[in-house]
Amino acid sequence: MMVTTTCKYTYPIIATGIFVLFIAVIVMTGWLLHLEAIQSLLPGHISMHFNSAICFTLLSIAMLLYIKYRNRGGHRLTGVLSLIVFLVGAATFLQKMFHSDLGIDYLFLNNNNPYYPGRMSLLTAFCLALTAIGTFGISLSTNKYKTICQFLFHFVSVVAFIVLIGYLYNVPALYNLSYFTTMACHTAFALLLLSIAASLINPSLGITGIFTGTRMGNIMARRLFSQIVVAVLIIGYLRILSHRYHWLSADVGVALLIVSFILVSLFLIWKKATILNKLEINMEVAQENFRIGVESAPYALILSDETGRITQVNFQTEKLYGYTSEELLGNNIEMLIPKELHKHYRHDSDSFFTSPAVVSLGIDEEVYANTKHGAWFPVEIVLTPITTHNGIAVLAAITDITSRKANEAIIKNQVNELQLKNQELEHFNYIASHDLQEPLRTVANYIMLLEEDYPEQINDEIRMHLSTMNSAVSRMSQLVRSLLDFGRLGKNRKLSLTDCYSIITNVITDLNGLIKKTNAVITIADEMPVLYAYETEMRQLFQNLINNAIKFTDKDVAPHITVGCKKTKGFYEFYVSDNGIGIDPKYFNDIFHIFQRLNKNEDYEGYGIGLANCRKIAEMHGGEIWVESELGKGSTFKFKILNFKA
Ligand code: ADP
Repeated sequence: MMVTTTCKYTYPIIATGIFVLFIAVIVMTGWLLHLEAIQSLLPGHISMHFNSAICFTLLSIAMLLYIKYRNRGGHRLTGVLSLIVFLVGAATFLQKMFHSDLGIDYLFLNNNNPYYPGRMSLLTAFCLALTAIGTFGISLSTNKYKTICQFLFHFVSVVAFIVLIGYLYNVPALYNLSYFTTMACHTAFALLLLSIAASLINPSLGITGIFTGTRMGNIMARRLFSQIVVAVLIIGYLRILSHRYHWLSADVGVALLIVSFILVSLFLIWKKATILNKLEINMEVAQENFRIGVESAPYALILSDETGRITQVNFQTEKLYGYTSEELLGNNIEMLIPKELHKHYRHDSDSFFTSPAVVSLGIDEEVYANTKHGAWFPVEIVLTPITTHNGIAVLAAITDITSRKANEAIIKNQVNELQLKNQELEHFNYIASHDLQEPLRTVANYIMLLEEDYPEQINDEIRMHLSTMNSAVSRMSQLVRSLLDFGRLGKNRKLSLTDCYSIITNVITDLNGLIKKTNAVITIADEMPVLYAYETEMRQLFQNLINNAIKFTDKDVAPHITVGCKKTKGFYEFYVSDNGIGIDPKYFNDIFHIFQRLNKNEDYEGYGIGLANCRKIAEMHGGEIWVESELGKGSTFKFKILNFKA
């Protein structure tokens, strides 16, 4: 079965309904089987009447139906059942009031007929009729009547409580008023339970609201009431005992009752007042902290109510706008919010109050505010809803972004300049490399011509010089080409899903000749990631590092190289380690600069551009490259690249 109500007291209400139903069924069984012991709870006292038990049965079913099935038409049945109870209650009440049988005496309500159990007392009839009006009113579900119904339930609770006190203190006058016939103890108990449970269906209404709320006042009310009730019951009981057993004379007894009641009240009030005072102090401290926080904020903070009336401003507001706080307080916040945003603001404010959320203005668009003296300055505004006891207030945080804008403009200019310079540099690089190739080609051609045209004049020594010249020219040509490649690196880069494992295995295949020649062993230590990267450039990076790792080893040592990768926060960190000649720590930075080499060309061939390329590629991926090494003990080159999500 699905519970369709959202009332937080659903289960207590259901439990109470079932309990009352249980009492009523027991009593009815007692009547039907003529078992007097279970018709009346207290021996020697009056029993609950048969028709009262029927009414309780109907009322508790009505309440259970309402609480469980009100959204599925259950409320209509609640209404019908309540109406029946009301008619029975009202008919009995009228009949007893006016001593008329109204024709129903012999239906099934005849006191004198042993087969037809007795009818309810006048007081019970009255209370049941009121409770029935209440449950009928709830079933109508119009808010207007719900509060009235709530007070009907309260009234019934009070009457039932008085009757119960009568039984508790054994004071028949409270439950057996001469004219109003006696209400049974369990009738009063059932009425009290039923009326309280019914009042919990709308827990925020009437006196129930005071006890069910979650505010400090509600908590205090709950505690104070329960303590006072217990205290008064005890004091009252003692007073009755003292009277019955003649412990004290009447006037001393009353005087003591008054004194003890005053003392107990004083004690309880003292306790609660201490708590309230503490709370107030805490609240004052919180308010003061809030005030200090607002005051010391580095931006203008303005608190306004739902109508836009300014209720609090901080020092920064006065400083920024040039108004004094007296000039601002009580005025509309729109005097501080830029005019062009008024429309937005009102619109935002409307939705703001219906579904409060933080609103930011002036972040994507340029927004300017106006000081008292007519100066304009760029601002960023954040409106935050704050729930107060007077409704929703707006806390506007206004930041003067003049210096930020100025800095942004400077940075923008610098970026533009840098881009221009870069373009010039690229152009220069391209022209220079091209133009430099031309004379190099000429020199190479002339060397070739000399060798071809003057073979008999060229002796061995000249031939050797010419060959040296030739290799210098081709090295120069290679250097110029690598310079051009360095400039172009990453020009047409494209981010794509890159499988690092396949890149590395391809590089190893390409370097197969060198690997065989040097007996190199390359191990891929970790699982290589598939990630978003510039694939061509990544391949070049691995190629350079692995190639260097093979190259820079002693001639008689077989290179042992390990490639690995770790995932760190936001990055992938790769490493390529070798057992090569190692690097002196003082060169750890230099080697990543273009044309920086630590070894002679005769020992290890190269152009000093590989690691410069590697650095550029790592930086292109939002990362960096570095080396850890010790001379003679091998090196580990590490680089990390951003973990691009897509
Ligand atoms: P190249 O390899 O063409 O000389 P690089 O830019 O690749 O140029 O390397 C720059 C210098 O860094 C190398 O000349 C070498 O001295 C040093 N180096 C690079 N890799 C290693 C390595 N794995 N072990 C020792 N030294 C290295």
